[in-house]
Amino acid sequence: MTERLYENAPFLRRFSARVQACTAEKGGWAVVLDRTAFYPEGGGQPGDRGLLGGVSVTDTRNRGDEVVHLCDGPLDPGAEVEGELDWVRRFDHMQQHSGEHIVSGLICARYGCDNVGFHLGEEAVVIDFNRPIPPEDLPDIERAANAVIWEDRPFLVTHPDPAELAALPYRSKKALAGDVRIVTVPGADCCACCGTHVRSAGAIGLIRLLSLKPFREGVRIELLAGGRAYDYCAAVAAQNHAVSVLLSAPERKTAAAAERLKQELAEMKYRLVGAENRLFDLLAARYAGRDFALLREPDLSPDGLRRLCERIGAACPAGAAVFSGADGTGWRYAVKLPPDALRRMNAALRGRGGGKGGFAQGSVAADWAEIAAFFAEETVSNKTT
Ligand SMILES: [Zn+2]
Repeated sequence: MTERLYENAPFLRRFSARVQACTAEKGGWAVVLDRTAFYPEGGGQPGDRGLLGGVSVTDTRNRGDEVVHLCDGPLDPGAEVEGELDWVRRFDHMQQHSGEHIVSGLICARYGCDNVGFHLGEEAVVIDFNRPIPPEDLPDIERAANAVIWEDRPFLVTHPDPAELAALPYRSKKALAGDVRIVTVPGADCCACCGTHVRSAGAIGLIRLLSLKPFREGVRIELLAGGRAYDYCAAVAAQNHAVSVLLSAPERKTAAAAERLKQELAEMKYRLVGAENRLFDLLAARYAGRDFALLREPDLSPDGLRRLCERIGAACPAGAAVFSGADGTGWRYAVKLPPDALRRMNAALRGRGGGKGGFAQGSVAADWAEIAAFFAEETVSNKTT
């Protein structure tokens, strides 16, 4: 049975131990030591990585009473080896896991719910609760969790006897018997847990609650703690700073400035469409009386092409073909043509596109000279350009 040093010494990063067993496994070697500071995956917290006797530990897992270190090289049974944790990674896990305790403890006490899922992912921590929580409560929960950090409340680990345990209102995912490890953050949480935690809440530094979404019968909350929360805030602040420079707005007023810009853009679009439509009406009046019209206009949007073609098509009984674009980069079209004529056009001008009711939109990979030549030959009607 491996002695688990991390249980009483979660800040232990280096240790020496004796190799008990080493067996080849798929993708590496499974090493068992007489004692270890490596935390094995469990309770939502990933297994530790690091170095052991000169080989890399890629993962750590429980196997019965033993802790198995998955290594990329073999170690000699009986040998005394030095172990060193990937401390940056482990401390990050301790910050996330400890932050989760505070948030879960506060939420379960406040809403009378249970934490029914916890996953410490590469990006964020995900916690599931089995009751609805109003999303507008999230800022208040976040502030209460951070207040626990500011008060630097301790993370106390105890092993109560059965009588004490029976009287203790602790959180647990399953009914527990025998030796139970209880982690208490006074005023915030009391939970059965075998994971690694900080000594006191101050070491978590910061908690950010990113989102709250309905999940099954309750909600799923996404959380960042410690370095992850700081990095997130720094990245978001950098984004906001860049936006404030672009909009020439103070950093605390970027949303209002973006809203104004959005309104201005909508007004500009409205005015542009109005001006285009007046121009298109004039063009349609010029083509009125002709049987068929082929024309090109620079820089029209697909919607502009459609509106122009509708007006010209209404003025010319046999139809209309309107193009926008340039030689080399290709031409987009809106046409009012019989289906057989549309097929011939797409075939002759290497075109793609279609539509219904005799109206179609698409593009061709042909130059204007080819387009004009096609419609000069095409017997839609008495062509006019
Ligand atoms: Zn824990």
